[in-house]
Amino acid sequence: MVANPYSNYINGTWQSGTTVIDNINPANTEDLIGHYAAADAHQITEAIQAANAAQPTWAATGPETRYAALMRIGETLKSRSAELGQELSREEGKPLAEGKAEVFRAGQFFTYYAAEAHRLSGDRIDSVRPNIEVDTRREPVGTVGIISPWNFPLATAVWKIAPALVYGNAVVWKPSEEVPHSAWALADIISNENALSNGEFNLVNGTGPTAGQALVESPWLDAISFTGSLEVGSHVLATAAKNRVAVQLEMGSKNPLVIMEDADIETAVSAAIAGGYSGSGQKCTASSRLIVHDAIHEQFVDELVKRLRSMTVGDPIADEAQIGPIINQNQLERIEAYLTIGEQAGATRRCGGQRVSRETPGHFLSPALLTETRNDMQVNRDEIFGPVACVIRVNDFEEAVAIANDTDYGLTSGIVTESLRYATEFRRRSASGCVMVNLPTAGTDYHVPFGGRGASSFGPSEQGQSARDFYTKIKTSYVRIG
Ligand code: NAD
Repeated sequence: MVANPYSNYINGTWQSGTTVIDNINPANTEDLIGHYAAADAHQITEAIQAANAAQPTWAATGPETRYAALMRIGETLKSRSAELGQELSREEGKPLAEGKAEVFRAGQFFTYYAAEAHRLSGDRIDSVRPNIEVDTRREPVGTVGIISPWNFPLATAVWKIAPALVYGNAVVWKPSEEVPHSAWALADIISNENALSNGEFNLVNGTGPTAGQALVESPWLDAISFTGSLEVGSHVLATAAKNRVAVQLEMGSKNPLVIMEDADIETAVSAAIAGGYSGSGQKCTASSRLIVHDAIHEQFVDELVKRLRSMTVGDPIADEAQIGPIINQNQLERIEAYLTIGEQAGATRRCGGQRVSRETPGHFLSPALLTETRNDMQVNRDEIFGPVACVIRVNDFEEAVAIANDTDYGLTSGIVTESLRYATEFRRRSASGCVMVNLPTAGTDYHVPFGGRGASSFGPSEQGQSARDFYTKIKTSYVRIG
């Protein structure tokens, strides 16, 4: 059992931090969820040393042990998804259904990768020389530092933790300081299941500049997988490179959703709502640029504005709101500033962007739509990360593709069309890592690769079989026969 309910989990024991993080409910800033241990550099080193000591034994356990451990964790997450989903929504602010779905999805990542324990294989290749056999095998990388963002407190971390562990690595996980509870809840499950209690898995809640910085500066890590902003990701890469630590980055984006003249209007509006505004638009996969053919522009915008105005904004738990709060005051003000920047550059605000009062003090903002925007405006270049989408009017398919691809980022993209030619061409020519046809740009499967292009990603894709490329190293061995 846990001695202090909100401690860090280091070397199989619960430890207090040197300071604490106050976890505040963004839908009710008077609701203090709890105090959470915040690790300092010394505790980060302790966690890395524990992981390094545990890793060889963990790697030697074989697939059956690793399968069983991950399966138990995954099944527990799934069976507790309603309760843990509510806790996740309380600290992160996403609608309750999305909170529950995220916990269930975290369980699916564990059970999917549990089964991968039995599927790790190598190759045997004929040598170019006589009487020699060559084979390749995949071995663990070693100890992996994992740094995750607040907008998917469990999913973004678990899609790293599960493959790292199943391929025989040890983990030191530094979650976002905005959402320490979901991280603690996962560590609690791991500890209760007695699954990884020898230092294979370590949770170090703490701040980015202290705990995160100590992790990326460590010369004793073998790899770092980071999800978060472009700015911090670039810093992680530069810092870890000094120690030649392998780095994988998943960062922001500015995802385009193209609406062609032949689009089914209901499909287009639903895709724009689900892609642009679910999770209050605080998603790396958010459809923040709506590239709309002139022939359907007015109809699409009118219908979208009608739907946005009808969405309920408020507490995801008490009000069962469709749009929850913005994560914190700074981010709320940042989004408002972008709306002003857009309007000053000539955009029209068709709806939203107003603060909303509810019974509790929370960071509530109504969903906003900017129209008459150009792709070179700052609102179409920077990731706003809020319930805001910008409409760009185009005259034909070629212009739509050119604008969709004209971005520094490249995580997801989408097209809504009834035309097989448009759909096929767009899938082929889109400069993003994931392409959707008649679907929102947000919302992916857990058993297939996920990753972007350009400034969105660095290193191998995550999820599905692609995770092997980051969490294992290839060894080639030669044997002389006879
Ligand atoms: P962020 O970059 O501010 O923080 C991410 C993590 O980095 C946090 O755990 C933070 O504590 C840590 N950190 C901060 N400074 C650090 C430092 N100096 N050294 C080491 N770690 C440090 O991002 P955020 O605000 O938590 O998350 C939002 C961002 O994440 C958005 O840009 C979003 O697009 C991106 N994101 C990307 C994906 C993806 O898969 N591509 C998924 C979710 C979120």
